[in-house]
Amino acid sequence: MEDHQYSVANTTEKRKIDMRSAISIFFTLLCSISVFSQTAAFTNVNVIPMDRERILLDQTVLVRDGVIVEVGKKVKIPNDALKIDGKGKYMIPGLVDMHTHLLSDGDNYPDSIAEDELRVMVANGVTTIRFMIGTPEQLILRARSAKGEIAAPTIFSASPHLTGREQGNNFVVKTADEAREAVRKSKAAGYDFIKITTFIDAPVYEAAVDEAAKQNIRVVGHADSRFVTVERAWKARQQIEHLDGYMELLLADDAPMKGSVSDLYISDPKNWESLDYINEKKIAEVARKTVASNPFVNPTQHFMKNSFGLPRSEESIRSQPDFRFYPAKVQENYLNFYKRSRLMQVPVEKRARWVAVREKMIKAIYDAGGKIMAGSDTPEFLWLYGFAMHHELKALNEAGLPAYAVLAAGTRNAHEFFGTLDKVGTIEKGKRADLILLDANPLDDISNTKKRAGVMLKGKWYPQSQLDKWLDQIAPKIAGALLPEEKK
Ligand SMILES: [Zn+2]
Repeated sequence: MEDHQYSVANTTEKRKIDMRSAISIFFTLLCSISVFSQTAAFTNVNVIPMDRERILLDQTVLVRDGVIVEVGKKVKIPNDALKIDGKGKYMIPGLVDMHTHLLSDGDNYPDSIAEDELRVMVANGVTTIRFMIGTPEQLILRARSAKGEIAAPTIFSASPHLTGREQGNNFVVKTADEAREAVRKSKAAGYDFIKITTFIDAPVYEAAVDEAAKQNIRVVGHADSRFVTVERAWKARQQIEHLDGYMELLLADDAPMKGSVSDLYISDPKNWESLDYINEKKIAEVARKTVASNPFVNPTQHFMKNSFGLPRSEESIRSQPDFRFYPAKVQENYLNFYKRSRLMQVPVEKRARWVAVREKMIKAIYDAGGKIMAGSDTPEFLWLYGFAMHHELKALNEAGLPAYAVLAAGTRNAHEFFGTLDKVGTIEKGKRADLILLDANPLDDISNTKKRAGVMLKGKWYPQSQLDKWLDQIAPKIAGALLPEEKK
C-alpha cells in the first residue's frame, strides 16, 4: 500500500488523480472483499465464553482480521486498534438461527430485498443462519457473505424441500428414483442439507435417506406423522424440526385417534381433541430415543407456541416492533388468517395444554442429554427474522432450560451440529469474531440478549445505534416491496 502512495506522490497531477481514483477503487474493493481488516479491542468486558458455564470478568478481547486473537486481563492493545468500552457490559457469541426463510425466496418478493433481509438479522445479533428451504439465490448470497461482499450472517442452506405434493420451491418425489435424483441434484447444486417436509411415502423417504448417505449429505426437516413418522426419522438419524410427529407418539395406547397436533395437521380443530389423550408418562422414553438417534433438536418453540398455541390479538400483532417491515399484503394475509381460520375455534385450555406438553418434551430431551438448537421459522406468521430469535430464546427458557443452556442452544450447539465449533461459536483465541455486546447479563435474564450495545460480525464492529439506523432505513424498503403480480 505504501508503494502506491509513493508512486502517486511522484507523478503528474493528472496521473495522481487517476492513481487516486484507482486507489479509491482499490480500497472500495478491499473493503468489499474483506471486512476483516480491522483491529479492535473490547476493554473491561465481562465475557460469557460459552466453552463452559462461567463468566470471565473485566477482560480485554482483542480481534484482528476477523479472528479473536487474545482474551485476557493483561492484553497489550495496539495503538491503531479501535477501542470499544465494555465496562459493565457482557459479551456472548453471535446467535445462530437454525430455521429461517426470506420474503424474497423463490418467486415471492424480489431478490433485490434479500441483502436488506439479511441485514435485519445482523442488526438483531444473528451472525449465522440456516435457510430451511433452499433456492439458487440463497447459494449466491451464501457465497457473497463468505467473501465479505455483503454484511450478512454466515449462511447454510438446506435444499429445496422434498415433498409428496407440489408446494413451491420443492422437489415433488413420488417414487424412489425421483427421491434419489432430488438428493443427487441438491448435492451437486451445493446445498448443505437435504430438507424433508410432508406427504412423502415411507419407501420414497427411505430411498432419499439412502441416497443422502451415499452422497454424504445430512437429512433434516419435518417428520410427517402420517407418512414418514418419527420412528422412521429416528432410524434414519434425521435431525427433526418443530418436534413434528411428537404429539402423536405421546397419545395413550387406547386413544380413539392416531392423529394429533403436529405439522400441517395443526390447522384442523378436530385434531386438538387428541390433547385429552396425551400420556405424559411416555415423554421420558421418547426423549431418550430422540437423543439416541440424533441429539440435535430444533423445536422452533416460540413459533409454534405463539403462532398456533397462544396466538396474539390483532392489536398485539400491530404493536410488534417488526410489524412495520412487512409488505401490506403479507400483513393482511396473516391478519385474515387469524380472523378466519378454523384453528381459532380451538379452546384456549387445549392450546395451553399443547404448549405445556411441548415444553415438557423439550425439557425432557434436554435432560436426556439432547442438544437443543434455536430456530425462528421466520418470516412466517408475522414474526420477523432477527427479532424472533430473542423470542425463541425466551420460549426455550420458559420450557425449563436454564439460561446457560438457552445460550448454548442459540450459539454453540448449532456450530457443533454444523461441525464448525472449532472455528466459531465460543469466545476463545482463534475463533471467528462473531460477537454480541450486551448492556446486561443474559444469565440473569435471558431477555437481556435484546439489550445490545452492538454486534461484531466477522471482526467488523457495528454499534447498535448504527444498526438501529439500518433498521429504520430497511423497514420501508422491505414493506414497500411488491409481488410479481402486483407489479403488472
Ligand atoms: Zn420453515
